[in-house]
Amino acid sequence: MSRAEEQVRADIVEAGRRLYARAYVASNDGNISARLDDTRLITTPKSVSKGFMTPDMMVIVDYEGKKLAGDRDASSELPMHLEIYRSRPDVNAVVHAHPPLATGFAVAGIPLTRAVLAEVVTTLGSIPIAEYGTPSTRELPDAVRKYIKAHDGLLLANHGAVTCCKTVMSAYYKMETIEHFAKISLVARLLGRENLLSRGEVDRLQGLRGMYGIASPAAICTDPMQPPGDQALCQVLEAPESSTERLVPDVSSLLQQASRDGEIRLTYRELTALIADAVRNLRD
Ligand SMILES: [Zn+2]
Repeated sequence: MSRAEEQVRADIVEAGRRLYARAYVASNDGNISARLDDTRLITTPKSVSKGFMTPDMMVIVDYEGKKLAGDRDASSELPMHLEIYRSRPDVNAVVHAHPPLATGFAVAGIPLTRAVLAEVVTTLGSIPIAEYGTPSTRELPDAVRKYIKAHDGLLLANHGAVTCCKTVMSAYYKMETIEHFAKISLVARLLGRENLLSRGEVDRLQGLRGMYGIASPAAICTDPMQPPGDQALCQVLEAPESSTERLVPDVSSLLQQASRDGEIRLTYRELTALIADAVRNLRD
């Protein structure tokens, strides 16, 4: 066994340990894979907790998914990994897990596509939701294919999340970023306000990618009029237009909420401000 293969096996064990320790997976969920060379992939075995793997447990398969070596069988989610390697020659590793907060967004059908955190804008851009597909069928790789050319991280509707990158640990870290971003987004929404970065600020952050050499499979686009098409070509981010402000109050979500269910939700402060305003108008 080459030194490189030993390292990849060790990295998969470590990434699996962290996925389980952070409760991004329960029971035997989740799977990790990596390219060994042009003809072989290495992947985690099925029916094993990813928190307690050893390097010898891994399965080696070809790019059609046929087993070449290993005592165990590969994950039933392997076709999704194979699809990602086919679509992304630049990617050497794939991580799939069910982190509970990101998966909650995937269940609610709410993509993580708002320009909120500069760090996430520069690294992942946007995190869309791939349409629901029955696990372990062709539906899942087909759903992933639409988005994976332009994104390093996706939510999977009513299922979980998948990330890819140049190494096992960097793909794992993208999973951490997605879950952390989901947690912060949830807290901001619970607090009743999510201020967004303006389009101008997003453009500035996109410029930083080039300056710091941050690799990204596609550019960010903030024009909501982009035609959807059957292949995502850019990372669509919700960022409001503003000629002056870099941080813009999130009023669009209030309006969207209103058109969706006919009611407008206001925070306590917004409501008291409205009443105070009305009282002042009555007096005048
Ligand atoms: Zn899964």
